[in-house]
Amino acid sequence: MTVYNFCAGPAMLPPDVMKKAQQEFLDWQGLGVSVMEVSHRSKPFLAMVKECEASLRRLMNISDEYEVLFMHGGGRGQFAAVPLNLSEDGLPGVYIENGIWSKGATSEGAKYLEAQGIDIRNDVDGKFSITPVSEWTLPEAASFIHYCPNETIDGIEIFDVPSHPTAPIVADMSSNILSREINVNDFDLIYAGAQKNIGPSGLCIVIIKKTLLARKGLVKPSILDYALEAQQGSMYNTPPTFAWYLAAEVFKYLESIGGVKEMEARNREKAQILYDYIDQSDFYSNKVAVHCRSLMNVPFWLKDDALNEAFLSQAEQAGLVALEGHRIVGGMRASIYNAMPIEGVQALVAFMEQFAKENS
Ligand code: PMP
Repeated sequence: MTVYNFCAGPAMLPPDVMKKAQQEFLDWQGLGVSVMEVSHRSKPFLAMVKECEASLRRLMNISDEYEVLFMHGGGRGQFAAVPLNLSEDGLPGVYIENGIWSKGATSEGAKYLEAQGIDIRNDVDGKFSITPVSEWTLPEAASFIHYCPNETIDGIEIFDVPSHPTAPIVADMSSNILSREINVNDFDLIYAGAQKNIGPSGLCIVIIKKTLLARKGLVKPSILDYALEAQQGSMYNTPPTFAWYLAAEVFKYLESIGGVKEMEARNREKAQILYDYIDQSDFYSNKVAVHCRSLMNVPFWLKDDALNEAFLSQAEQAGLVALEGHRIVGGMRASIYNAMPIEGVQALVAFMEQFAKENS
């Protein structure tokens, strides 16, 4: 039976990449040892990381004005690194809040600087919604503006990009990096924990405008120091080598299928199939306003919560795993990241249809 894994993260990775990793697990590049067993400073590893960065630059069209860092500590590591590196002149960090993760960033930031949260949620009648970017009121001066374009738990995606005359725009793209085309030049710093669209957990990609590396920021641990990491080629200390290798393989794979443009087309098709089915059903509902529905994380609710357990166990028997919603919002959640094939979404919809029929 084919198993489709809808986990929000760590999430499924492209099967072709997993097979390749398996094939070369014990013998990487004919060296007779695993990629996990070689020095991060060895020639083959350095060649791999060079190509990995080049591949990501091609995929996202990242110019020379940006540094690409491969850091430790996932998304939350960056919740600390951003204020520690970007705090300037005692100005507050501004945090746009549209869900659980963006609020998490505010709480962490508040340990290091004045963290000014701006709540843009404007739920109506139990429907999740947000104020559109064009209507945000941002303060005149700030160390940075932080926002989360895709709230993994709430299923809210922000498709427009904010701008500010002086403050850098920082985006937590942990759950939507590489899922659709963006213009990197609209951002000053993009970061993304790897475990959804990139590779195994632990690794975090940081794409930062080089001019920002001159900021002194606050006293910080060296492993969270952007300028130091840039100077050291992201190897100030031993990097998460296996995660880095797998990220390189995922980037290679993405390039081979036609890059982010193709990925976006597939992602839009998958999301549409699922939302269309939910919207026409009176058994399931999605609470997110149409203009900010995530292409990656689709929360949905059964009309009767008492059926949740049966839904989850029967789904699992049908090979559809990890559909339980986050405990904070309840219900179900289908995470349909880049690696989820359209067949997985079709199988989910077919199961949902059958379950609704049997339980209506
Ligand atoms: N930001 C977002 C949008 C996330 O989805 C997550 C994790 N699901 C995080 C930050 C935290 O990432 P990590 O667990 O890697 O610290």
